[in-house]
Amino acid sequence: MCCPPGAGRSSYSPRTRTTPSGASSCGRSRAVADVPRRTVALSALALGLTACSAPAAIERNDAGSQPVPASSPSPTDASTTTTAAPAPSSASAAPTAAQTAAGRFTAAASPASALVVVNKRRPLAPVDFVPELTRPNVVLATSGEGALLNPATAHAAEAMFAAAANAGSPMTLVSGYRSYGTQSATYNAWVAREGQAMADVASARPGYSEHQTGWAFDIGDAGGACALHPCFKDTPAARWAAAHAWEFGFIVRYPWMFHETTGYYYEPWHLRYIGVEAAAAMRAAGANTLEDFLGLPAAPTY
Ligand SMILES: [Zn+2]
Repeated sequence: MCCPPGAGRSSYSPRTRTTPSGASSCGRSRAVADVPRRTVALSALALGLTACSAPAAIERNDAGSQPVPASSPSPTDASTTTTAAPAPSSASAAPTAAQTAAGRFTAAASPASALVVVNKRRPLAPVDFVPELTRPNVVLATSGEGALLNPATAHAAEAMFAAAANAGSPMTLVSGYRSYGTQSATYNAWVAREGQAMADVASARPGYSEHQTGWAFDIGDAGGACALHPCFKDTPAARWAAAHAWEFGFIVRYPWMFHETTGYYYEPWHLRYIGVEAAAAMRAAGANTLEDFLGLPAAPTY
């Protein structure tokens, strides 16, 4: 959930997936029934779009002063779910490690909880939720509201950034909190520029972005290379985060080739705080996504 045009370039291949609806988590969407999704997705990839995409002119405008749309997205049926529902694909199947782990950790409905799950089937409730916010003492590559996180996430980020720097892999905070108003403006700009279908691939709907919770942020490498592009995965900061972020309670929320579960293409820069205990359990369970870990259904589309 986070990116400018250019992210998502050539290194990503949808392979045989025919209906990749995922954008990155920054934007939002609507049904695109009359637009071939594969065409749209591939076009998006060619343009380098991911969940965090924003038109260049909008990307820098993170002051949150944009008007909020008159109508809010309607919560889906999953919006009030408070308990993870382990749903084995068949009655005879043995529980997976992830399903077992889900017995100890359950998805929260409140965006104030570290275990809230926000995806294309689970908007924030309320959709215009505003978290408590603070500015972490880390190296910033952004300003305004984008430099803010909720207190627990900020505290954990400070520890993680310090550890990464000590290990010789310094990172920067590229994009943190994003308000409902900012997300609305970003999404609407995409609609105006590229149309509804592309907007839905490139940007999260307002009220559906993890960035609005304060629990998520995008990192960059201190060297500035490949910011919000797939090649970021090969930078020192990304490699360190992939190996050690969990020790500080973070997960890489949108892993490679799990867009049909998360709804978003690969984002090696988008980290989500879920707490050290949960992150360690998720790693031990071998769960690739938060949805899998908590026993929630996939959320490829709205
Ligand atoms: Zn993001």
